[in-house]
Order: sequence, then structure tokens, then C-alpha cells
Amino acid sequence: MLCLHDSIRDDDPSVQRLLCAVEDAPSLTALILAAWQVARVLTVHLVEAVLAERARRPLAWPRCPQCGVVLRSKGFATRQVMSLFGPIRWRRRVGRCPHGCAIPQVAPLDETLGVQPQQRTSGELQQLGCALAVFVPFATAARLLGWYSGRPVSPQAVWGWVQAAGQRAMETLQKHLQALAQGDLPAPEALAADLAAAPLVLGADGVMVPFRPTGGQPTGKTRWQEITVGVLARLGQHRTRTGKVVTRLHHRRLVAVLGDVEALKPRLWLEAVRQGIRQAPQVVWLSDGARGLWRLYEERLAASAVGILDFYHAVQSLWKGAAAWLDGRTTQARRWFGWARHRLRHGQPDGVVADLVEALEVEGLPDSARDTLTALYAYLERHREHIDYAQYKDLGLPIGSGMVESACKWLIQQRFKGVGMRWSETGFNHLLHLRLAWVNGSFEALFQVPLQASPNT
Ligand SMILES: [Zn+2]
Repeated sequence: MLCLHDSIRDDDPSVQRLLCAVEDAPSLTALILAAWQVARVLTVHLVEAVLAERARRPLAWPRCPQCGVVLRSKGFATRQVMSLFGPIRWRRRVGRCPHGCAIPQVAPLDETLGVQPQQRTSGELQQLGCALAVFVPFATAARLLGWYSGRPVSPQAVWGWVQAAGQRAMETLQKHLQALAQGDLPAPEALAADLAAAPLVLGADGVMVPFRPTGGQPTGKTRWQEITVGVLARLGQHRTRTGKVVTRLHHRRLVAVLGDVEALKPRLWLEAVRQGIRQAPQVVWLSDGARGLWRLYEERLAASAVGILDFYHAVQSLWKGAAAWLDGRTTQARRWFGWARHRLRHGQPDGVVADLVEALEVEGLPDSARDTLTALYAYLERHREHIDYAQYKDLGLPIGSGMVESACKWLIQQRFKGVGMRWSETGFNHLLHLRLAWVNGSFEALFQVPLQASPNT
């Protein structure tokens, strides 16, 4: 019987050497890795053979962009790009203007293949490099790519692909934001029936990121800047192994901006429309006490969404009030706090508010305690519509905003706050938008057309 490795060893001595290495491999791991080298060489052979065949086909020459005369072949020239399997070479016809116009050399086959004139790496390598860079530092991504391609890849090359892909993601977003500003609403994303019937939850949070000094110099004082992140998801119930029912976020979508809540507003709204805020059976806004976030809720969401103030934030404020009023070291303070927390949790916030009113009427209350209690009273009054926790529980809605905030934090923390990391605004923005594309499921679409070549790619 003719073995596979007998049938492929005929013509190429380099393949023969690799096949010998496969046969001599002492361990399973060594065997697989040696066979991988053979696969790589065979893949390159196969790709180059197909390209050579295509290059021989007759082709219709385009016209000169300057004088309009049909271009003429100047014969074959070699082209090379770095691929996931190592360098790929092919010879194809190149043309020039017969009138001698100063136009760049034209290679119709490259154009058909989607290869840009200055491109030095093929799309699948760039895409994998960008996907790795979404999660790991550029140097690590470059090293992993080197393992697979069999050739070293520089961190600068990975950085260059990320800049190009991130730029494209930002331009697409800008287009959609402009359309939205002109009243052109995006189509809602298609959802499975069970998801479409689930409540839509929205929330946001701010995270600080270290940036280089103004001007982008590598030395000097770190500038911490705020990134505001919004999350949109469908709420699902999940029963744990111990039988406890917990809320889970499904179909999670994130939006983010280097800037404050004001800058986030249009982005959040764009995604809210896409995530079906106008069709969802129930919409929920979950947030801690941050004023800016509640202003955003009042302006954009209050008409369609139930606002829920994070229960634990509310409880913290209760404790602050109790400690200032009754002295935090006393049993009396702890007792009042326990009572108020219980009331709040079980749907009697009015009882708590009434108690505060009574406390404020007592003469001889120290000024500092009065100030704290007045602030607590104003806080509860401001959020009166957002603290009906018993009702939210009955509706199966969460009362804590923790999972919303951790979704926001993850987007930034996991990649942008490594030890010693400092970002330029442009570099940060490009990678941020790649990460967003990744978590929002639009990453592959970014690479369906080749990236605009820059000297680094
Ligand atoms: Zn011409």
C-alpha cells in the first residue's frame, strides 16, 4: 500500500527532509509539530501552484487613469507576501501605460486577489494578529504568530494592523453616529424569540486609564483619563447547581468612549436602538448613584426604562446616615441601620424617609449630622422612583448593578491596565474599537475587505 508520506515525498528535497523529521520524531508532540511543518510547506506549494496557474490566464487590461488608453503588459514580475504559513511568492503580469504616463505599476491579478500594492502580509495573518492583540500585549501577539507562521513577526507589524483595523471600525461608527444625528435610526439586531422576549438592561460605568503626557512623549507624568463604558444586554434567569436562581446577562453589547457620560450618550443610544429598546417588552436601567449617569437616564431613557438604583449603593448611604446621626460605634446606630436596610429591601422606603424627617425635626441635632441626614433624605427623595426593591424582585429584575459594572470594567481592565502600560490617545482608541468589535461580534466583518496598507503592513 502506498502511504501518504510516500506519495508526497517525490519531487521536493526540502519536503523529504521534513518527512524524515516526522519519521524520526521521538514523542507524540514532536511528531505532530514535525507533521505541521510538512503541512505548512505543502500549503505554500498548493497556494503557489494555484496562483501560477491563474497568472497564466489571459486578462483584460484596464485603462490608464490619466490618458484613458488600455494598459499594456510589461511581462511577469514577482510578488511576495508573508502569510500564516510563511512567505508566498507568485509571478504575475504587470502593466504600464503605453504612452508613458507616470502611474504606478498595475497588477490586475493582485487586485482580483484583494492584495493591495504596498501590502506585505496577507489578510488572515493580520486578522489573527489583531485577534490576539485584543487580549494580549503586541509583543506576545507577535511571538505567538511567529510560532504558527514559522517566521518572526514584529510587534510593530501587529501594532500597525491594529491601527488600520481600529481606524476602520471608528470610521464605520462615525458614519452610523452621523446617520443617527440626522434621524436615521439603525435596524434592530435580529434576536432569537426567547432573547427578544427578555428584559433589556442598560448600565454604564467609568474606568480610569493611564495615558502618556500630552503630546505623546514616552517620558513624563502619566495622565489618567476617564473611559466611559456602557453595557446593553438581555436579562436571563439561570438556576445554579445548588438550586439558586441567579440573573445572567445574555447577548451582551458594549459601547465605550475616551471621555465622559456626555460623550457616551449618542453611542449608547445608537446601540440601544440596535438592541431593540423600542421593541423590548421591558427596559431596565441599573446604576449606582453617580449623578452624570442618572442625568443620562432622565434625558434619554426615563420614558421607556425602569430605573433601578443599585441596592448596595443605597445601603451604603443609609449606613453613612446612621453613623453620622447615632454615632457609628453604638448599637443604636447598627439597629437603626438594620431596620432601615430591611425596610428598603422589602418595599417600605417611605417608612425610612419618614424616619429621617422625624430625626431632622429633633432640636439640638449637631450640624454635621444634620447635613449628612439632609443629604441622605435628598438622595432617597431623588431616587424615590428607583428604590422599590421588593417590586423589582417580584418582576425578576436584579437590584444590584454589580454585573453591569463588572462587564464595563472587564473591557478596559483586562487589556489596558497592565503593569507599566501607558497609552497614546490614538493607539488606545484603535485598540479599544477592535476590542469592542470583538465583544460585539462584528470583528470578522472588519476584515472582509483588505486593510488600507500603511508602511507597517
Ligand atoms: Zn496613460
